[in-house]
Amino acid sequence: MTPRPNLHTHTLHSDGDFTVEEVVRAAARAGLTHVAITDHFETSKVAHPLRRASLERYIGEVRAVGKAYEGRVKVLAGVEIDTNPERCALSELPFALLNRLDLVLFEYVEDPLQGGVPLSELRPLCEALTVPFGLCHWDMDRIFRGRRPEWLADRLSALGAFVEVPTSQHYARDGRFLYEHSERFYRAFAGKVRVSIGTDTHHALEEVGNIGRGMEFLRANGLCGQLLFNGQG
Ligand SMILES: [Zn+2]
Repeated sequence: MTPRPNLHTHTLHSDGDFTVEEVVRAAARAGLTHVAITDHFETSKVAHPLRRASLERYIGEVRAVGKAYEGRVKVLAGVEIDTNPERCALSELPFALLNRLDLVLFEYVEDPLQGGVPLSELRPLCEALTVPFGLCHWDMDRIFRGRRPEWLADRLSALGAFVEVPTSQHYARDGRFLYEHSERFYRAFAGKVRVSIGTDTHHALEEVGNIGRGMEFLRANGLCGQLLFNGQG
């Protein structure tokens, strides 16, 4: 069966409007195979991020909801980490706890508009992680303009990072999705770099199932086989 995952959502644990259970229920209703809860972790970017002291309780809640939805939708626990070091103390991240998650998303890596650290500085963090990690809502077309897609694919492959296809309307420019602008990069990921798909839902439950067009994009670029959690549960 082809997976239908949404690996990027927010809840009341950071800046989302809904509980974990409400997001998961929406995912089950939409016929998704996987849904990841990925709240903002220890960043001053949002008023009430998920804190280190609450991480264990958060994981426990996601696991409990996952158990209640067993057989309907696979529920994954994740976080989203802001890579601007002025907003998030990257060197102080609690890796032992983070490694109890199912995945970790990094936002703004190498993005000059957001002050995210370069991939080279992300490497020690990635090496401390034993769980899948990747780059979310990444505007590769803008950040790596003039670079060869194969150059980026090789760097990501060496790092072991996946790259998300962000399906939210929020991630568009000039009437096209950012992932469409970056298609040349995704094409170069074939056989090299894993991919994920995420809606980055915060405020609308009907958004949770919004992965159709992104899945079509992955299919068109021969990337479905490299989708994270493909073939699991
Ligand atoms: Zn997000």
